[in-house]
Amino acid sequence: MEEKVIPYKIYLEENEMPKYWYNVKADMKKKPAPLLDPKTLKPITEDELSKVFCRELVKQELNETDRFIPIPQEILDFYKMYRPSPLVRAYCLEKKLGTPAKIYYKFEGNNTSGSHKLNSSIAQAYYAKQQGLKGVTTETGAGQWGTALSMACSYFGLDCKVYMVRSSYELKPFRREVMRTYGASVTPSPSMETKIGRQINEEYPGTTGSLGCAISEAVECASEREGYRYVLGSVLNQVLLHQTVIGLETKTALDKYGIKPDVIIGCAGGGSNLGGLISPFVGEQLRGENKYQFIAVEPESCPSLSRGKYVYDYCDTGRVCPLSKMYTLGSGFMPAATHAGGLRYHGMSATLSELYDQGIMEARTVKQTEVFAAAEEFARVEGILPAPESAHAIKVAIDEARKCIETGEEKTIVFGLTGTGYFDMMSYEKFHDGVMTDYIPTDAEIEKSLEKTPKWADPQSK
Ligand SMILES: *Cc1c(COP(=O)(O)O)cnc(C)c1O
Repeated sequence: MEEKVIPYKIYLEENEMPKYWYNVKADMKKKPAPLLDPKTLKPITEDELSKVFCRELVKQELNETDRFIPIPQEILDFYKMYRPSPLVRAYCLEKKLGTPAKIYYKFEGNNTSGSHKLNSSIAQAYYAKQQGLKGVTTETGAGQWGTALSMACSYFGLDCKVYMVRSSYELKPFRREVMRTYGASVTPSPSMETKIGRQINEEYPGTTGSLGCAISEAVECASEREGYRYVLGSVLNQVLLHQTVIGLETKTALDKYGIKPDVIIGCAGGGSNLGGLISPFVGEQLRGENKYQFIAVEPESCPSLSRGKYVYDYCDTGRVCPLSKMYTLGSGFMPAATHAGGLRYHGMSATLSELYDQGIMEARTVKQTEVFAAAEEFARVEGILPAPESAHAIKVAIDEARKCIETGEEKTIVFGLTGTGYFDMMSYEKFHDGVMTDYIPTDAEIEKSLEKTPKWADPQSK
């Protein structure tokens, strides 16, 4: 191909934006294991799942055959308000590092919610509205999902009830107020409003909460209210599906200039941004058309892929959600209050878990102090102030680029810059003041938490 001049930022034209989401499961020979009904322990049916989630989203969740799923026009119209997102060549970072590698990042922080989560919240709010629901309930960790959902709900005129992990509720009052600005009600979790919240408060007095616990509260709340359903901001297949707009745009932009990435990197909390970024590339690899290196980056404090076990587990502390076969640290795992709240989930997307198990993707863990050092290094030359979650991917992208200095390889590295960190300045403050610590759970701690995973449910587990 004739070499085109590659712009600093690759923006797509409006008509080049994806009109379909890409369902990677359709290309997987060995599919992720099915969700199980927590009562019968049999694969959960569409009807059972529809009691908790919106019907159309359940169809997407269970769909293993359609490679492409059309994006409804109303959602496309909303996407146009903040998409396409730019794919940026990190020239300044490359120069600063002195690396022969070419580094690109797909920037998802250019919307008020400040992260990629709006890509899925708008879809979920749309389907809830279509179904004639009054409102939705959800949990939020660091607050990005709650913010994204409250924006989407206000757009479609839906009520939005958010259970916010208590540590974030207290540490991040500004996000809470953004949610309330968009009309959501926000409750710190564990709360005294739900049965499960009261139970957890009793069992772990003074707990700062966890995503797993907030999920249980949100599910309980939705199941007790007429016209409400629960929505989730990560982990599920449907969320990963909506996030494929990230990967599809990235691929179109790279293809437009004949660029082939060697390494694709993303941070992994529940796996939605990473899954969304890599899916179209994974699809090519599964079909034997191309080969890539995929790297999931996890915090050392919550290493679901790297140190977890691939078994059926509960998705929430209260054990009300369907069971998922995934890499997990155990649903009772209470991660240390790290500064990357969005990466504190005990489990991992079933799709990503399966890809990891098949050896298609690798995983790395990084220390939080290293992550903030990388965030700062990046911000000082590239200008964008990254979210701590995103900085996990930055850290490994820099590591990979540094390796290229030694080997002389001109690798093309693409990473997902999932959001901005303006609401995380208290964490940056701890880092600057030198009082940030690195927490690594011991083997004993992880084993103890894993003891509570249900052994019965998984005949094929290793
Ligand atoms: C929520 C969040 C993540 C992690 O969630 P995934 O589902 O793993 O993508 C990463 N970065 C930011 C900025 C987030 O808000």
